[in-house]
Amino acid sequence: MEWKNTADVVVIGGGILGVSTAYYLAKNGMKNVTLIEKGTICGGSTGRCGAGIRAQWGTEMNCRLGVAALDTFEQLSDELGMDVGLNQGGYLLVAYSDKEMETLGAGMKLQNSLGIQSRNISLAEARQICPGLAADDAVGFFFHARDGHADPFLTTFAYLEKAKTLGVTPYRFTECTGISVKDGTVTGVETNRGHIDAPIVINCAGAYAQDIAKMVGVNIHTWGERHEIMITEPVAPGVCPCMLMSFSGNYYIQQRPHGSIICGMSPEGHPADYQLKDTWQFVEAMSKILVHLLPRTKGIRVVRQWSGLYDMTPDAQPIIGETDIKNFYHSTGYSGHGFMLAPVAGKILAQHIMGKKPDIDFSMLDYRRFDRGEHIRESNVV
Ligand SMILES: Cc1cc2nc3c(=O)[nH]c(=O)nc-3n(C[C@H](O)[C@H](O)[C@H](O)COP(=O)(O)OP(=O)(O)OC[C@H]3O[C@@H](n4cnc5c(N)ncnc54)[C@H](O)[C@@H]3O)c2cc1C
Repeated sequence: MEWKNTADVVVIGGGILGVSTAYYLAKNGMKNVTLIEKGTICGGSTGRCGAGIRAQWGTEMNCRLGVAALDTFEQLSDELGMDVGLNQGGYLLVAYSDKEMETLGAGMKLQNSLGIQSRNISLAEARQICPGLAADDAVGFFFHARDGHADPFLTTFAYLEKAKTLGVTPYRFTECTGISVKDGTVTGVETNRGHIDAPIVINCAGAYAQDIAKMVGVNIHTWGERHEIMITEPVAPGVCPCMLMSFSGNYYIQQRPHGSIICGMSPEGHPADYQLKDTWQFVEAMSKILVHLLPRTKGIRVVRQWSGLYDMTPDAQPIIGETDIKNFYHSTGYSGHGFMLAPVAGKILAQHIMGKKPDIDFSMLDYRRFDRGEHIRESNVV
């Protein structure tokens, strides 16, 4: 692709956040949007994720973003002209203590007040929704039928292909090596292929976003955390058609439409870790949880395991907005939920940059909340 050394906007990062943001900018009328990716599109966390989508959150901001993301996903295949693989089997949340019931119950009240139809359900109903479920040691269950999952590759490439028709130029194997600034305002990016002049730059570099921010001396308080995940051979459908998830139990499990079961858990102690290595310890621990919850899975084979990076923040809520450097924006820190939130995050940041009123006021997602000590931690996370 012919190299252009000027752009109206440069977006750094070819994951779902960068690609969706580029698309919504172009859709809102921004000309000459360039996206740079140091590797391949979807080669970062996006192509490694569980791709779950939910509105069952514990903070008001995440609930608002989550339900808006569902609204967007429900019409996304039509809008982009490509199937994004949306499947709405619901999320079934499992609680293991009275205290967790209280927390999830408070979350449900908040969700209901925002129009999210989540419900507290019995074990019998949980078993109707998830026929393979044992979970006799659980204390209670919450369910939201509109939650589900989509295909991260199909979704990202659907955005990319549509964005290209609107004039977005994507450059792969193009690494941002510096940000140029004049008189406190961004003026472009340095790359391994040359300079690009641009009056607006957006940092969507996922778990590496803090490295980009540090190029101009800004600390956005994010870090990478390695998470492992695995998938089994396909088995008869109906074992776990919903996403089965527990925050205290530390797991998420779902059966894909073709029968394979995909599942993951958080690393012990949540250390900052950028190594994409895979361990036997994970397969062993995850398999025990899987068989305990879904006894029918005993004896099935794991066909693949991999790892990817969560882009973490101290409150597990994202960072969206401008920095102290004028016209230098960040959209990162999605803390394990960036796939589902990308459609709405891309849309509202693009609206803001284009001078329109964003569908959701995201001013509280300013990264400086951490310096001010104003953050409220999201509890509904694995
Ligand atoms: C195991 C696992 C399971 C997950 N499950 C879910 C889930 O169920 N639901 C959900 O919503 N989310 C989930 N996530 C989180 C989700 O994957 C991320 O939040 C999301 O993909 C972030 O998208 P992104 O575009 O910001 O980052 P990425 O997809 O990582 O994209 C960032 C891109 O920036 C590029 N880049 C970095 N530095 C530079 C540079 N200097 N120059 C140019 N390019 C650069 C990288 O190469 C990368 O491609 C999961 C993540 C993991 C690891």
